[in-house]
Amino acid sequence: MGAATADRNPVKRAVGLHRAVILLGPPGAGKGTQAQRIAKRYHLPHLSTGDMLRDHIQGGTALGRMAKPLMERGELVPDEIVLGMVEDRISQPDCDNGFVFDGFPRTQGQAEDLERICRQHKFEYTIVLHMVVDPDLLMRRLTGRRICKTGGHIYNIYDRPPKIAGICDEDGSELIHRPDDTEPVIRGRLHAYEVQTQPLVDYYKGQGLLIEVDAMADADAVTASIAKTLDRAEAAR
Ligand code: ADP
Repeated sequence: MGAATADRNPVKRAVGLHRAVILLGPPGAGKGTQAQRIAKRYHLPHLSTGDMLRDHIQGGTALGRMAKPLMERGELVPDEIVLGMVEDRISQPDCDNGFVFDGFPRTQGQAEDLERICRQHKFEYTIVLHMVVDPDLLMRRLTGRRICKTGGHIYNIYDRPPKIAGICDEDGSELIHRPDDTEPVIRGRLHAYEVQTQPLVDYYKGQGLLIEVDAMADADAVTASIAKTLDRAEAAR
């Protein structure tokens, strides 16, 4: 980090990446797993809009009641709802040094608004990691996915099973099968991705922000390749 850079914003640049890291890819690409790991490595918050919405549903809020039927059908929640949630979250002090988005932005409107929010919060750099994966793999990854109730640790009954069925290796919590990880809903989610989110690949490519990641490799290899990309981007800043 050069002295000129450090002078501009000494506190915010001391830790973290001071940038928005966006993981872009279809449901089942491994965004959640990688976002957790990257967030931990760089001491940044992991911001999953899906988790935020599920918290609202669990808490029985008005927002949760609105989002629930849409999520059950695999459809997207309206932009203004998601944007309000994201803007509130980014204003929290733990986001001062950057953050890792998982599942956001998902539409052109969300991407444009994120740019505005980042400018407002003085985040100069965004990096978009496009997680490229063979579509045939996604159904298996999603139907087999099980998630730890307490810590959000992610398993797959086919490819990455826990040592004891239904129990998290890390903290012994119960593993949950998400209600939208069933075949008909997954089809809806994949369709929503293709129509509403896939166009963001070209959008971010056009802005020179997109970096492709081979998300077919095993999870550790994907993490290593993302970390290398982020370290390189930081060094070049
Ligand atoms: P996945 O990426 O595996 O589909 P998520 O947990 O990110 O899982 O999302 C689950 C659901 O939450 C989505 O199908 C959608 O209904 C809703 N959702 C999450 N993030 C957004 C978003 N940024 N915009 C609109 N809807 C969202």
